[in-house]
Amino acid sequence: MSILLQGLVVTRGTAVGRAVLFESGRIPVTHALIEAHQVETELARLHAARAAAVTELEHLRADIPAGAPVELAALLDVHLLLLQDDAMTDGVRRRITEQHNNAEWALVAELEEFTRRFDQMQDSYLRERKPDIEQVVERVLQQLQAGRRGAARSEAPAPQADEWPAILVAHDLSPADLLQLAKNRFAGFVIDAGGQASHTAIVARSLDLPAVLGARSASRLVRAGDLLVIDGNAGGVIVDPPAAVLSDYVARQRREVQQRQVLARLKKTPAVTLDGEAVELLANIEQPDDVAGALESGAAGIGLFRSEFLFMDAAAPEPDEERQYAFYARAVEALHGLPMTIRTVDLGADKTPAGSGVEPESNPALGVRGIRRSLLRPDVFLMQLRALLRAAALGPVRVLIPMVSHVQQIRQVRGLLARACGQLEASGRAHGPVKLGAMIEVPAAALALPLFQRAFDFLSIGTNDLIQYTLAVDRSEESVAGLYDPLHPAVLRLLASTIGACRQSKHEITVCGELAGDPDWTDLLLGMGLRSFSMNPARLLAVKQKIRQADCRQLERWVQRVLESDDPAAAVSAHLKHASVALRSAA
Ligand code: PEP
Ligand code: MG
Repeated sequence: MSILLQGLVVTRGTAVGRAVLFESGRIPVTHALIEAHQVETELARLHAARAAAVTELEHLRADIPAGAPVELAALLDVHLLLLQDDAMTDGVRRRITEQHNNAEWALVAELEEFTRRFDQMQDSYLRERKPDIEQVVERVLQQLQAGRRGAARSEAPAPQADEWPAILVAHDLSPADLLQLAKNRFAGFVIDAGGQASHTAIVARSLDLPAVLGARSASRLVRAGDLLVIDGNAGGVIVDPPAAVLSDYVARQRREVQQRQVLARLKKTPAVTLDGEAVELLANIEQPDDVAGALESGAAGIGLFRSEFLFMDAAAPEPDEERQYAFYARAVEALHGLPMTIRTVDLGADKTPAGSGVEPESNPALGVRGIRRSLLRPDVFLMQLRALLRAAALGPVRVLIPMVSHVQQIRQVRGLLARACGQLEASGRAHGPVKLGAMIEVPAAALALPLFQRAFDFLSIGTNDLIQYTLAVDRSEESVAGLYDPLHPAVLRLLASTIGACRQSKHEITVCGELAGDPDWTDLLLGMGLRSFSMNPARLLAVKQKIRQADCRQLERWVQRVLESDDPAAAVSAHLKHASVALRSAA
């Protein structure tokens, strides 16, 4: 009988294959009381297992293949730090010496204590680090057991020879495990644990394989060898699919491969609609190293460089002006004169660095976030503005301000930018001119648009937050995910009025939220008048393909009807169905 499992959409695409179970997270642990004379031996076992786990991670870190995501090294470093942190091993040692628990028991008991403390934490970023502790403990447990057997830690399961490729199913996977397993050519991953912001989700996304996370009990329900379909677009997994469903997905997978080949041919073709409208396609990035991938996908520049990444590393001190300058300069130089839009730091809410000492807020998404936070610490903000102005001496830089909503914030930002310029001039350091832009992601800014148009050189709509704040739905909360509806008439009207007003007054406007990279949204945004999109580079060619099939005049009329409709979702779905039938018959 088939089973349907629902998880989170992490990476898109279809995979069909046989389940290979990775017995992570369920190592059977022997609970035994030891005699007093065995304490030293048990401590030595613990010490040896920890050392072996450190060596194993160090080898993995040294072997990171070229081209692997840059986050990976940082993630392995976090695990190494945790492994070498005495706070945890001191507790385990105490349980062995004082309570005479065997090493395995002491380790899992201490883990329980730690995870209980993590569950009580207010800070969602810290709470999401809980799996890291669990994965590190598991690594030591595996070494303890390998030591008992006198064998090395069992290798990750290799895919079996079969007509179907292998799909890995696990309760939880550390980024290090994921890296090890990726070498085994799995067609996709299904993982019980993991939120959208978890480290595993970050790595799964960068591997660009179909994956479903948050599939809760998948690893208990799926048996080794079961046939699985991963529907990455819907975040679903079908276990033992009926023949008709299976052949449907096999055909879909084949189409995806063909589509990818067709899309690759579009890299150098211009993004121009059928009626001759040129569209700017920009990339969203988080690291200077991402510029290469963005250029490779044909981006005309960077529309959103989220600068928070530099501030999120708990292991490093807050970056000073020099470190920030080096970071931005590297990205600007890699673009060779193409435009670079760098967003000032948008910390707060779900992006609060570990150990930042920030007081917990009762409603963090509505609290001290983005520009509100920067303005509370003008010296820190000035440091970032100086670093940005200096990077602007190396190429065209546009500075984007997140979460702006009030007029006084505009005045303060302008004032601080002028002060940063003055400081650089006074100290004789080279700097360049910057254009100043605002994110339109708080409904108040969209509704009072002329204020922002007058004050800023350009605007960029952050649909991720604009939807969250318009609908009062937490964008990262699974339990209200069904209410996070981009096609809600209120969202559509805000988008259409903002884009329309900017187009009419010839103000530069871009959309840089996730909707810009969703090909199902390309016609809507074009029909609203948008001519500049910024997105994850992996989505760029699919969006370009939609643009090249679009007729803006027709789409403008269609969008008017959608806006007037009582059921925009039905109108859009009918349009998409019609477009895909037309495309198939043309092919
Ligand atoms: C957005 O809100 O749409 C956006 C691009 O910003 P972030 O996702 O970083 O909040
Ligand atoms: Mg945002």
